[in-house]
Amino acid sequence: MKSKNDSIRCTVQQCQYHAGQDQYCSLDKITVGTHEKHPTMVECTDCQSFKLK
Ligand code: SF4
Repeated sequence: MKSKNDSIRCTVQQCQYHAGQDQYCSLDKITVGTHEKHPTMVECTDCQSFKLK
């Protein structure tokens, strides 16, 4: 199992960087971005380090 990064919580199990049974990311750092011109709510943001398993 990948080691988790306690600083990055994540629930996206479908990502290949997810730490497994714990709700954490295994990367040292991630990039968060947006797909909106004017983001106004949480749904407007994305983890741009996501990679499908
Ligand atoms: S790269 Fe992003 S989506 Fe993937 S496990 Fe890490 S925080 Fe979650």
